[in-house]
Amino acid sequence: MKEPTSILLIYTGGTIGMVHQPETGALIPIDFSQISQQVPELKRFDYHIETIAFDPVIDSSEVNPSDWVKLARTIEKHYNDYDGFVILHGTDTMAYSASALSFMFQNLTKPVIFTGAQLPIGMLRTDGKENLITSIEIAAAREKGRPMVPEVCIYFENKLMRGNRTTKYSSEHFNAFASPNNPPLAVAGLQIRYNHSIIRQPDLQKPFSIKENFDTGVGILKLFPGISRSFVESILDSPGLHGLVLETYGSGNAPTSIWLSYGLHRFTLNGGLILNVTQCQAGFVEMGLYETSRGLKAAGVISGHDITTEAALTKMMLLLGSIEDKEEIKEKLSTSLRGEITAI
Ligand code: ASP
Repeated sequence: MKEPTSILLIYTGGTIGMVHQPETGALIPIDFSQISQQVPELKRFDYHIETIAFDPVIDSSEVNPSDWVKLARTIEKHYNDYDGFVILHGTDTMAYSASALSFMFQNLTKPVIFTGAQLPIGMLRTDGKENLITSIEIAAAREKGRPMVPEVCIYFENKLMRGNRTTKYSSEHFNAFASPNNPPLAVAGLQIRYNHSIIRQPDLQKPFSIKENFDTGVGILKLFPGISRSFVESILDSPGLHGLVLETYGSGNAPTSIWLSYGLHRFTLNGGLILNVTQCQAGFVEMGLYETSRGLKAAGVISGHDITTEAALTKMMLLLGSIEDKEEIKEKLSTSLRGEITAI
């Protein structure tokens, strides 16, 4: 007899797994092994579903690279036992975690779907049930014997998005995430419609593994009108800073002040890496289009094209932590490794 499809649910924390404590009204985590009490619909799947919960569970504002390692190792440990993985995670840093895992996994051949909720699973109007149920369905979906979406994704409201293309967009509405530079990999309506042509297909012959060394000597500097020399220099001179994600204006522009170009150039000449990412929600960096970005190019700044800040940061941390050769890192920062940059 054919084995049922098996799914591992990993609960890390966040609003989805919470209920209101009647006495205080405060949100407290549920015992996740009892999830089917909150979502009895789970019993109606003919899949074999198991759950693992982080101990302790964490609000995603507390997430660190060590949690990404814990998650990746959990999946690595159970990789051969399940057909797909669903990670329940707080929404606040979900885009960072999904980006990080997409770069950590080498030759991923199974779906890893992050989801969460804006309203706790114990509330009547929760969005958590639909998010969870559809994520499980997507993680289990196969076509011609192959998983439908062998990628790290975020499913939220009715869209399945490539994880490293997402950003948290609303703290208020059910559509908490946006993927402005990449269309959804699937949309759930009456049916789940997959956008097959943009789903990445792995080489099934290559073995799955993880990379897990992050260099946390990476930071984000967002430009703003009136930014001072002392502020920029204090960041560039931070001890142990090896990489910087520079959030510039529009298509990658920055003030032309000599002190800024000089400071950035000094940083790159000393071996630091700077990746130019736009502050805009959508669109891409095009260095050299305006006078205001030519100086950045001359200072050795690398174009991040249309990468999100979340993907830029996690990619840089992992590359700096796992590769010695700076030229190789620069090369990898300029190219798409997991579909995080649109092909130029
Ligand atoms: N603060 C929560 C978290 O990110 C919010 C949420 O789950 O949506 O863990």
